[in-house]
Amino acid sequence: MGELASMGGARGPGGPRNRVSGSDEDAQRRANEDAPVIPGLGRRIAALFRPHRRGLVAVVALVLVGAGLSVVPPLLVQEAFDVGLFPADGRVDLRALAVIVGVMIAVFVVSAGLSVAQTRLTAGIGNSVMGSLRVQLFERLQSMELGFFTRTKTGVIQSRLQNDVGGVAGVLTNSVQNILGNTVTVIAAIVAMLLINWQLTLVAVVLMPGLVLVQRRVGRVRARIATRTQESLSEMTSITQEALSISGVLLAKSFNRQAREVARYQDENGRQVRLQVQQAMSGQWFFALVNVFLSSIPAVIYLVAGWLITGGATDITAGAIVAFTTVQSRLLFPLVSLMRVALDVQTSQALFARIFEYLDLTPSIVDADDAVDVPEGPASVVFRDVEFRYPDAAPGAAATLSGVSVDIEPGSFVGVVGPSGAGKTTISALIPRFQDVTAGAVEVGGVDVRKLTQSSLIDRIGLVSQESYLFHASIADNLRYARPDASGEELVAACTAANIHDTISSFPDGYDTLVGERGYRLSGGEKQRLAIARVLLKDPEILLLDEATSALDSISERIVQRALDTASHGRTTIAIAHRLSTVQHADRILVIDAGRLVESGTHPELLARGGVYSRLFSEQNG
Ligand code: ADP
Repeated sequence: MGELASMGGARGPGGPRNRVSGSDEDAQRRANEDAPVIPGLGRRIAALFRPHRRGLVAVVALVLVGAGLSVVPPLLVQEAFDVGLFPADGRVDLRALAVIVGVMIAVFVVSAGLSVAQTRLTAGIGNSVMGSLRVQLFERLQSMELGFFTRTKTGVIQSRLQNDVGGVAGVLTNSVQNILGNTVTVIAAIVAMLLINWQLTLVAVVLMPGLVLVQRRVGRVRARIATRTQESLSEMTSITQEALSISGVLLAKSFNRQAREVARYQDENGRQVRLQVQQAMSGQWFFALVNVFLSSIPAVIYLVAGWLITGGATDITAGAIVAFTTVQSRLLFPLVSLMRVALDVQTSQALFARIFEYLDLTPSIVDADDAVDVPEGPASVVFRDVEFRYPDAAPGAAATLSGVSVDIEPGSFVGVVGPSGAGKTTISALIPRFQDVTAGAVEVGGVDVRKLTQSSLIDRIGLVSQESYLFHASIADNLRYARPDASGEELVAACTAANIHDTISSFPDGYDTLVGERGYRLSGGEKQRLAIARVLLKDPEILLLDEATSALDSISERIVQRALDTASHGRTTIAIAHRLSTVQHADRILVIDAGRLVESGTHPELLARGGVYSRLFSEQNG
């Protein structure tokens, strides 16, 4: 009965939320709160178990053997009484008794072993299904285009992977065993009851379908609450992720907004607490009802039995009534367990729907069926009348890039300059296919990048951006991300070329120094030089430098600039620059303004033209 107490009284889907906020974000969230609709959900969940068919058959076999064995002890009790203790001749038969007791104990031992084996099998199957779901999800997310991650909060993504997959774990591991075992027990009990008396059995089971109907309703309510709970969990993960990251903490501290962050967390946490209580309470009234109902059946049986006997029934002896109510009461626990599992399964469907929703995401940038590798040889980069619009740009807004045509020869150094927001970074994003053009084409090595395999394309390109990302690992590990098999000498050579080897050598732990979360233990210039060394290890033919030095002070900038000059030697280099001085020596400088290529030429040519470039130049040089 303790079982019943822990179950979930429907509380209505809405429940008070104590949230007085009418913001768009809130409305959006409420709209998202119902579980996504996934067609064929049940079939897809079942398909997850397909690789474990043999394991499942073994579980079924174990459950059946276990159920069969469970019938033996009650039969032996009868033997113990009739043959051992109180035989017809009145003399206790110790030998027979010893054998019977021995067999009983053996049955208990074997049953216990079977139950352990069952648990091992089901835990193995459940966890491996969950594990492969997690990996599939991770893989799918890794394949998504960059735009997906700029649109979606990191915490929300992490939450699907952790909280939603984690949420179905219990169901995956326990349900199979529970459903099979209890179904067998319930069927056996009903058969036994039928053997004793069919009218009484009818009385005992007539209301069961009603319970099942009520249970399904409760399940739906719980599924809705579960969806909300997961939404709230993902919101909490987002807040944690944003507020407790280095940048988040820095921001909160510098604006003295720690209290606001705590309040935000507290607010969402309050919602989470209310949802958890709702979830715990949903179904409580139902299970209380089931409890009263199932407990009252024996009493009703006495009444009905009396009525039947009065009506002339002769097969209802005192023994039959005792036997019947004994069996019926043994039905209670498995029935309640089954309803609980059914409820859990129903609730978990909401979580499965959220998982499948993410598994069904389709990356918008994928390899073409007939994609080829980037042709061997020097890599030219060509833009043909390129137009680009961000998918989420306001309708009617001007394109981010339009009519951009450039022909960059292999091995040349091209600078890209222009006012902030002109579209320079967007140009560099089109080359490795982080974004696809909306019209025109970008070609690498003479082939449209949309006809190239992404892996061969990325292999040819090295990218150094304004803020280089470093893992919380050793310097050597960060460098080897570019090439896992790089030798120690190669690391030193790359770092020497990138002007960072001496600095690394001066650290007590040298190349084993931990760089700290996102590289916060290194100065900006050191991080950039490390990032350059990393790219040098990759040894790409095309080098994209996106304001690689603009975050640095002039001394660091000069050191990093020297490293970049070495790095760009012999590579097709496209350097986006804020400070014109960094690309003054370029073979060609492209001037971008409001998404258009407005000027192109060498520094002296552009100065002589007296256009946008010469204006920018005089602004920067007084
Ligand atoms: P630049 O590098 O020259 O400063 P960008 O290429 O970064 O300019 O941006 C060009 C324009 O595109 C800007 O108006 C910017 O606001 C817009 N933009 C940049 N990234 C996105 C994005 N992910 N979604 C929508 N608009 C964007």
